[in-house]
Formats: sequence, structure tokens, C-alpha cells
Amino acid sequence: MAKIFCVANQKGGVGKTTTAVNLAAGLAKLNQRVLLVDLDPQGNATMGAGINKGELKATIYEVLLGMASVSDVRKQSETGKFDVLPANRELAGAEVEMVELENREGRLKDALAAVESEYDFMLIDCPPALSMLTLNGLCAAHGVIIPMQCEYYALEGLSDLVNTIKKVHAKLNRGLKIIGLLRVMFDPRMTLSQQVSAQLEQHFGDKVFRTIIPRNVRLAEAPSYGMPGVCFDPASKGAQAYIAFGAEMVERIETL
Ligand code: ATP
Ligand code: MG
Repeated sequence: MAKIFCVANQKGGVGKTTTAVNLAAGLAKLNQRVLLVDLDPQGNATMGAGINKGELKATIYEVLLGMASVSDVRKQSETGKFDVLPANRELAGAEVEMVELENREGRLKDALAAVESEYDFMLIDCPPALSMLTLNGLCAAHGVIIPMQCEYYALEGLSDLVNTIKKVHAKLNRGLKIIGLLRVMFDPRMTLSQQVSAQLEQHFGDKVFRTIIPRNVRLAEAPSYGMPGVCFDPASKGAQAYIAFGAEMVERIETL
């Protein structure tokens, strides 16, 4: 059965999508069967996997509203060797439309259950908000991966996210765990990065992933070629870090 992880942080631009796409590609390189779930109307994970979000007949929107199944809608990332449940701006409407529906927080969970045996991992790229969409992600997942930049304000939003995860754990999904905090866009030359990084280790201990993702321009360039950074320039420092992170995840889930 697939292990399902949300990549979440309500802060915008912290590296959620880059992490979801490159972890998907990294795990695929380790021969894991992966479904990348784009739960963000921005559709960045879809594009980053090389799928044109403007040319989709159906997306995760139809899946959440019960008009299509995951197997109807999923696509293959040619370069990344994983499957994608794609999204585009249509998904923004789901937020409102789901309010009327029964089991509105559990719709993604139910939809993914139908294909759970076909994958080793499902990775859900959440939007930058603690919204109904993110709630669907958290209800469907076994664990949360939280990408963070090591900067002064990084810790500020973290308590809101942790509290939301605690509430979901208490009321909706007893299986939910924080798997770990992932330090991303790391610049070792900055003293502040070093300090915040050390603070994170102090406060959160082994909830901080060993792997650190460096700031690396190849990771930022890759989406414009419709490729995960891991495939675009496998030798780059960023790609190597995400491949190492994939290996760390495989190791971690054995101890879950
Ligand atoms: P949003 O909240 O809008 O969904 P996000 O948290 O998904 O954003 P990304 O889109 O992954 O964040 O990253 C934000 C920007 O930072 C992008 O332009 C991305 O290419 C760049 N970026 C992410 N990680 C790195 C990195 N390790 N090195 C360099 N650039 C990076
Ligand atoms: Mg994103």
C-alpha cells in the first residue's frame, strides 16, 4: 500500500512544489512507483512535471467533486517517470463547491484509495494556505513534510501549521504525523542560515531531516524546461540533494 505524504507550509514560495516534484523524480529513480498529486490551483507541480496545465480535459477538480476517478484523470510525467494527478485554475472553484458536499474533508482520501495498491508513494503538493484543499491533503496523508527556509521569519508561521496538523490528527485523521522539517534553499555562507538551522535541530531534534537542500539555480531553471531538476541536471548540487532526500525518505518510512 502506498505511503501518502503532504508537502505543506502555508507560507508562499518556500519550496513546496520544488520539493514535491523533485522528491517524486528522486523516488522514481530509486525504482519507487510514485503518484504526484497537484492540490494547488496554480498548477505548478503539473507544469514542473512537464504536463501542460492548459491542455487538460479533466483535472483533480473533477476527482474531488466526484465527476471522475483518479485513473481517468492521471497523466504520466515523461521525463520524471512518475504519474501526476494534475491541476489548473479550475481547482480554485472546488474550495467553494465542496462546502456543500458530504464528507468534504475526506474527498481526496477516498479518491486516492482506489489506486493505493498501484503506488509505493503518493506526494501531495499543497497550496500556500490552510484551506479546505490543504485539509483534504492532510486528511488523506500518513505524514507531512514541511519545507522551510532558514531565515528569521521561518518559525513564525510554523506554529499555525503545527496546530492545524494537531487538530486534524485529533478530529479527522488519527494516522497523521509530522515526518519532518526539510531545510531548503539553504545558503551555507549566511550566518543567519546556520543559526536558524541549528535552532531547528535544537527544537525539533530528529524531526529535522538530515538532508539539506541547497539554493541551486538549476532547480529554479528546470520548470521552464518542463522537467524536475533531478532529471534536468542530475549532477547539480540541488538534484543530488533531492536524490539523497529520496533515499532518506525510503529509510524513514521503514521506521514509521
Ligand atoms: P507556492 O507557495 O506559491 O506554491 P512553493 O512553496 O511551492 O510556492 P516553489 O514554487 O517550489 O515554492 O519555489 C519558489 C521559488 O523558489 C521558485 O521560483 C523555485 O524555482 C525557487 N526554488 C525553490 N527551491 C529552490 C532551491 N533549492 N534553489 C533555488 N531556487 C529554488
Ligand atoms: Mg507551490
